Amino acid sequence: MKKTRTRFAPSPTGYMHIGNLRTALFEYLIAKHDGGDFLLRIEDTDQERQVEGAEEMIYKTLKECGLNWDEGPDIGGDFGPYVQSERLPMYKGYAEELIKLGGAHYCFCSEEEIQAQREEAESLGLSFKFEDPCKHLSAEEIQAKLDAGEPYVIRQTIKNVGETSFEDEVYGHIEFDGDLLDEQILIKSDGFPTYNFANIIDDHQMQISHVVRGNEYLSSTPKYNLIYDAYGWERPRYVHVPPVMKDEHHKLSKRNGDASFQDLVAKGYLPEAIINYLALLGWSPETEQEIYSLDELIDQFKISRISKSPAIFDIDKLTWMNGMY
Ligand code: GLU
Repeated sequence: MKKTRTRFAPSPTGYMHIGNLRTALFEYLIAKHDGGDFLLRIEDTDQERQVEGAEEMIYKTLKECGLNWDEGPDIGGDFGPYVQSERLPMYKGYAEELIKLGGAHYCFCSEEEIQAQREEAESLGLSFKFEDPCKHLSAEEIQAKLDAGEPYVIRQTIKNVGETSFEDEVYGHIEFDGDLLDEQILIKSDGFPTYNFANIIDDHQMQISHVVRGNEYLSSTPKYNLIYDAYGWERPRYVHVPPVMKDEHHKLSKRNGDASFQDLVAKGYLPEAIINYLALLGWSPETEQEIYSLDELIDQFKISRISKSPAIFDIDKLTWMNGMY
């Protein structure tokens, strides 16, 4: 059986809030429960959206919580995280391979052409799905455009997919009409990968067995799967987790700097209590026990007991728990 390997893959586009930390914790517990590996990968391909200091905050928080990652580039005897911006040239090679396999194609359309198609569909009251004329170019036409130095992107090719489905470990059987999926850009005109493509390539290369992430990614997962299938790679198992909410209507948000681990520590909450509290936010143990050490959590954590419903962050419950330490 494949070794259990999970990764926490944050984009440093804002301050890590405790919902992000809970995802990292679940990934850590899933890996450690099976004696597997937990990795950290910084997804920073979208350099414009980076927030200064966000990356350092991620390292500091994980270390203070005892969620140490198991491998990464050597940084003076310690493991650094994997950082996507340091791996950029590799992704284009993978995209070119995918073109040969029929899972992607060169697209020379300009933004204006796509916009014109969009406006036409809207004027007819139709929902817009970009129909890429470049899919019908012959190999010679493509080569001529490449030789002439025309700018291009590489897009995923989606054709005659029909129903496509996967089993999510939390949400169960998920089915989509594959032909409605849009042909997303994989490599941008500057040669760099989009966030989705880099994520897939890295999960494959790092032999991730369980992709654990927020449920907002459920709807893009079929597109990811079609790429795995085109390469002939085994799909990972998916564990989509519901969000942590600020209240009934609002999710915690890293842009707004909502409840962060560092704020809670500054207010006197203990890292052990925070971890204990977060573990129980969306996961129910099989016993009435409420106070756990990290080792006990590792021992008892089961994916099958992760809830599908959003959890609300309750500071009073955390305060009670903090008092038990
Ligand atoms: N980089 C994504 C984020 O920060 C996570 C994607 C994933 O875990 O697959 O939301």
